[in-house]
Amino acid sequence: MRAAVMHDTNQSFTIENIQPRDPGPDDVVVRLEATGVCHSDISATRGFLRIAPPAVLGHEAAGVVEDIGSNVQGIVKGDRIVASLVPVCGNCYWCVNGQTHLCAETDAVRGTVRAELADGRPVTTMLGLGAFAEYMTIDRRLAVKIESELPSEQLALIGCGIATGAGAAMFTAKVSAGSSVAVIGCGGVGQSVIQGARLRGAARIIAVDPIALKRTVSLGLGATDTVDPTLADTAEQVRELTGGRGVDFAFEVVGSPATVTVAYECARRGGVVTTVGIPAPTARLDLPASDFFRAEKHLIGSYYGSTQVRSDFQRFVDLIEAGRLDAEGLITTRYGLDALPSAFTDLEAGHTIRGMVTFP
Ligand SMILES: [Zn+2]
Ligand SMILES: [Zn+2]
Repeated sequence: MRAAVMHDTNQSFTIENIQPRDPGPDDVVVRLEATGVCHSDISATRGFLRIAPPAVLGHEAAGVVEDIGSNVQGIVKGDRIVASLVPVCGNCYWCVNGQTHLCAETDAVRGTVRAELADGRPVTTMLGLGAFAEYMTIDRRLAVKIESELPSEQLALIGCGIATGAGAAMFTAKVSAGSSVAVIGCGGVGQSVIQGARLRGAARIIAVDPIALKRTVSLGLGATDTVDPTLADTAEQVRELTGGRGVDFAFEVVGSPATVTVAYECARRGGVVTTVGIPAPTARLDLPASDFFRAEKHLIGSYYGSTQVRSDFQRFVDLIEAGRLDAEGLITTRYGLDALPSAFTDLEAGHTIRGMVTFP
């Protein structure tokens, strides 16, 4: 099967034939129909997410079940699935306490080698998936069955951008009706935070991004105001829009300590700052400690939008079908697998919100 292989960090991909190993008893073979190109794929090429090359990246994916292992129940050939980034084992401390997004088995399902290069060397996959390929063989617990007629391109977005972004607003921060929100960084995940805030009934949603395309798209997805951080101090501009107070909810969707500080400055006294972006492994935060006391600011982390994939994926599908969550509006460019290097270049240059790889 054809796959985009990363042979080293800080390098582009080569499209080549790799040989899948036979699926194990708990595996599901998925024929990919669509895979989104996400900033965390770029983070993986830079070594921010440690994935040993040679590797197949791609983790925001939807497809059709082609084959199942002998232990697999509840999924049959022909089912439509969205790939989950977490397994939901159902037995660990977090799964039984309603935090399946923090499942303790997450690292365990990510390490298995399921394909080889033509020369026999083993190929690793991003997050146990590896969706920049015609097929992927994955642990059954990463395959979430979906009932829908929606195009796979829209379903794929649920698996990362929508879960991470809309989930951060809906499930982690629980944005309240009538509140004010600032979103720092408006790529595919940031635009999904904006939509999640809109779904929760926020009155004012301020999209902050230096790229004009991202500010323009945000206005169609629920933002009420935009801020260009290159024009003046971001927190000052946000305070001007909120009666001098700052916002009730600030979201950082870039993954850098500098923008966490900006989000922290944008929040009002008593406000909630939620970090969504993926920082470099060595990054540290430097915040004014006295504000935690004096201003009672709250700083919370969000992993995978606190999304409970077994129930919330279908909930996102229902919201898209009802026209209340716009998945198609996130997709700005489509690519064949061969054009994946251009998809990465376009994303890094800020020319796309979500590029989508589609498979004929
Ligand atoms: Zn992603
Ligand atoms: Zn678990």
